[in-house]
Amino acid sequence: LGGHPKGGNEPIKPVGVKSILAIASGKGGVGKSTVSSNLAVALAKQGRRVGLLDADIYGPSQPRMMGVSQRPASPDGKIIEPLHAHGVTLMSIGLMLEPDKAVVWRGPMLMGALQQMMSQVNWGELDVLIVDLPPGTGDVQLTLCQRAAPTGAIIVSTPQDVALLDARKAMDMFNTLKTPVLGLIENMSTFHCPNCGHETQIFGHDGVRVEAEKLELPFLGALPIDLETRLAGDAGTPVAAGDGPVAQAYAQLADRLVK
Ligand code: ADP
Repeated sequence: LGGHPKGGNEPIKPVGVKSILAIASGKGGVGKSTVSSNLAVALAKQGRRVGLLDADIYGPSQPRMMGVSQRPASPDGKIIEPLHAHGVTLMSIGLMLEPDKAVVWRGPMLMGALQQMMSQVNWGELDVLIVDLPPGTGDVQLTLCQRAAPTGAIIVSTPQDVALLDARKAMDMFNTLKTPVLGLIENMSTFHCPNCGHETQIFGHDGVRVEAEKLELPFLGALPIDLETRLAGDAGTPVAAGDGPVAQAYAQLADRLVK
């Protein structure tokens, strides 16, 4: 996978997929992959047919977050069978690469890899395909927006100013590419101490909501910085699979996003 440069402008949206939601962030480490996996699981719990495509070429984390590690099969050497976990149909570039090998790919190879993950994976019939993008504004984002006609993009940011600045660049890119930005999510928002209930604003709070208002974009919600979220992600069972307060926050987010 990804070995041969492929250009072209033909559409790469899988035929059975009704809508594509791109999850983006200005920079890495803000929880874009965490939000992608939990949103996918929350939607699946509501009975949607959901796919999750991990297109974060430089740091694919969905295999770990969704708890899968086997290499997807390709019985005919052409069509790749996706994996299934927590009710979600899943494919990750990380499952096709040698573990621990750094990815040093040029643009055309990245485009080829995305094209293969879109059009050679047997996604089947899906209500929504969530695409976990690499951070920033690069070739994968460009190819997805130009050739896969995403329904919209969601931008994940922490409340910190620096992350916000980067998120604004991502918004500019989607505007230029004419992909609607459906809204902003504040991740790593308020910390609720599980012992005493005290609330701490570790990375500040409300920064994303204020920014959304300025940009006249929907503010989709705030997700707390939370130990269980981190532990669940590392353990391969997203927190949204449970029924605690964070799982409920994801259920609300899922309701708001897919009608
Ligand atoms: P990104 O995809 O933006 O690089 P990740 O989703 O990989 O970010 O998250 C980076 C790290 O932060 C991971 O260890 C993840 O478990 C943790 N994390 C993400 N969101 C939260 C949160 N709301 N609370 C606690 N830890 C989080």
